[in-house]
Amino acid sequence: MTERRLWPYRLRLRTPFRGLHERRGCLIAGSVGWGEFAPFDDYDTEADARWLSAALEQADGKWPDRVRDGVEVNAIIPAVAPEQAAAMAVASGCRTIKVKVGDAEGLARVAAVREALPTAALRVDVNGQWTVPQAARALADLAGFGLEYAEQPVRTIEQMRQLRELVEVPLAADEVIRVDRRFDEVAEVADVAVLKVAPLGGVAATVEAARRIGLPVVISSALDSSLGLAAAVAAACALPEPPLACGLGTGALFAQDTTAVTLMPQDGWLPTVPSPSPRSDLVRAKDDLAMWRARIESALATHR
Ligand SMILES: [Mg+2]
Repeated sequence: MTERRLWPYRLRLRTPFRGLHERRGCLIAGSVGWGEFAPFDDYDTEADARWLSAALEQADGKWPDRVRDGVEVNAIIPAVAPEQAAAMAVASGCRTIKVKVGDAEGLARVAAVREALPTAALRVDVNGQWTVPQAARALADLAGFGLEYAEQPVRTIEQMRQLRELVEVPLAADEVIRVDRRFDEVAEVADVAVLKVAPLGGVAATVEAARRIGLPVVISSALDSSLGLAAAVAAACALPEPPLACGLGTGALFAQDTTAVTLMPQDGWLPTVPSPSPRSDLVRAKDDLAMWRARIESALATHR
């Protein structure tokens, strides 16, 4: 691995996301192209190892054959002021809008988006921040806006199970799959599975996870640059059943990208693309090279 070409990068984000103002990662060269290795700082070596599998699948391997040419995507509205949320939702051109809630302005943000787009499908994502009673109350308030689903209103699979008894709004599972890897229990506590390609270990691993879980699927970005997004679109296009509108409109959150052309939905639709190459003028974050090399080496050691 040390002999491979590594290309560390730092990309500015337009809007802070997951508390981040820039997205850091490392591109890895392989026999057919480049793969993206961009686990977040708080990921452990096991999680890094899965992300590395995804990067190496992209750099050296072949994605499963696609059965469709593109996917519908949702707009993603981060924790911004309600007026800005409505403006972002309208500008996205998407028919499905996912709104981050869980903070004090969550309800007002959803209300503003609903008022601006009366017929859009609305989803909320809470990233597991509520207790079961908080979630039951908040979802009762939010239900009036007509939600397609609420993603991880609570954090654990046991809490999801309890909440499901209390609310009518369909629930989607993200963290219990991506972090807890409770594949065989998800269908008991949720109506929709949110799958992220790199954290699951690649395109083939994502298609397999979808089969194992057996729920309608949303393929979502892990705040990937357009290199990682191409892998996510490949997974969405390889699923035997068409996914629900996918969380792959995240290119809009980036002020800079690893590729010359950012993968951005047109009218809510993202076409499949061949795995792209890095832009030639992508700045190398040289100070990060030693850190990424060490992370990649430990991730590889976990594999052996
Ligand atoms: Mg989520």
